[in-house]
Amino acid sequence: MFDKILIANRGEIALRVIRACREMGIKSVAVHSTADADAMHVRMADESVCIGPPSGTQSYLSIPAIISACEITGAQAIHPGYGFLSENANFVQIIEDHGLTFIGPSAEHIRIMGDKITAKETAKNLGIPVVPGSDGGVPDVTTAKKVAADMGYPVIIKATAGGGGRGMKVALNEAELDIAFSTARSEAKAAFGNDEVYMEKYLQKPRHIEVQVFGDGKETGIHLAERDCSLQRRHQKVFEEAPGPCITPEERARIGKICADAIGKMGYAGAGTVEFLYEDGEFYFIEMNTRLQVEHPVTEAIFGVDLVREQIRVAEGLPMSFTQDDLEINGHAIEVRINAEKLPNFAPCPGKITAFHAPGGLGVRMDSALYDGYSIPPYYDSLIGKLIVHGRDRTEALARLNRALGELIIDGIDTTVPLFHALLQEQDIHTGDYGIHWLERWLEENTPG
Ligand code: ADP
Repeated sequence: MFDKILIANRGEIALRVIRACREMGIKSVAVHSTADADAMHVRMADESVCIGPPSGTQSYLSIPAIISACEITGAQAIHPGYGFLSENANFVQIIEDHGLTFIGPSAEHIRIMGDKITAKETAKNLGIPVVPGSDGGVPDVTTAKKVAADMGYPVIIKATAGGGGRGMKVALNEAELDIAFSTARSEAKAAFGNDEVYMEKYLQKPRHIEVQVFGDGKETGIHLAERDCSLQRRHQKVFEEAPGPCITPEERARIGKICADAIGKMGYAGAGTVEFLYEDGEFYFIEMNTRLQVEHPVTEAIFGVDLVREQIRVAEGLPMSFTQDDLEINGHAIEVRINAEKLPNFAPCPGKITAFHAPGGLGVRMDSALYDGYSIPPYYDSLIGKLIVHGRDRTEALARLNRALGELIIDGIDTTVPLFHALLQEQDIHTGDYGIHWLERWLEENTPG
């Protein structure tokens, strides 16, 4: 058993992990940059170590600083949270070389899924349905034209090393392909230092459906149903729910089993998410995330399980505390992401919180690292909190979301809260009738000027 875990992250996710550790009787170590000396995760952990200046590259992404912090404090394992080093296979390798444990899958599994072409190939071989597209990388525009002519327009060009929605370009016809191809390539080079791209059929009205999976690192894989994360802005999720409002129990069982079997066959350890686009009753794999997702609480709410606790158990070599048959969906859950951003342009809006009040009551969970008087530093991601509501059904969850948003007070800065108040006025949100382009279109129509 671990008696001390270091959390290589900050903000709400660091708190999330500290909470699981405390319930398991494990001590927690926070790491922080100089800009985060007063941050909540530092206050809440049992111990803390300053690992560098404000810049993420010199602190939360500094592998030597994090390994040293483990050695100084005697932490035996590292939880990476999401973002930062959570999907860095090299980090996992170094952790293991130092005799420490990474709370997550093997370096090999992270590497396979981190390269989107290899990931797609692996998924296909494991029986997971994929989006029709090029066989591997597309070296030049002549090849791109041939691939597009074969599969039909529109097409999407994507970076092999992609992430965060960057390096993706759509071409509606051959005339648009030249420019789309070269822009995708140069964006990929600038963002990831790798200009390899591949192509897929561009689905016109899909939903984003992702399956939460868990493996024990041996041969057992299970699934915890799906989340619908179709409400996105610039390919970034803003509102997530579980279960998916348009997925039938039969579809859930079918895609869930495919994913669970694949995870078992891989010998995958810990939490993962298999992401699909869903259109006309078909699922198309786009990628797998080998870590805990921001939106994991909606899954926790409908199953009543603690996914971080399971991650820690599996990293310790223990079996999972539930089986597939133990898992039964209870009600409906919704999460909204609260960012320190000023509408309508979503400009980052760091600054001092002059008043903070988190909503409460039945079925309400607020995961946030905010407190009265806290100054949000300008150096990091703008996510400052997640409001998660759970109800017996979707209608109750939406009513609860409305009530909880009304109780929430975050003064001193601008946030994305008004967006959710406005979305709750929309009929399509209540009927669940939205795809991945719904929000962008709505924002265009509802943005002044
Ligand atoms: P990233 O790793 O950069 O997040 P993904 O492959 O997960 O990239 O895709 C992110 C989003 O881009 C998807 O949720 C979807 O909105 C859009 N997208 C990706 N591939 C396609 C496709 N083939 N057709 C239509 N939209 C797509």
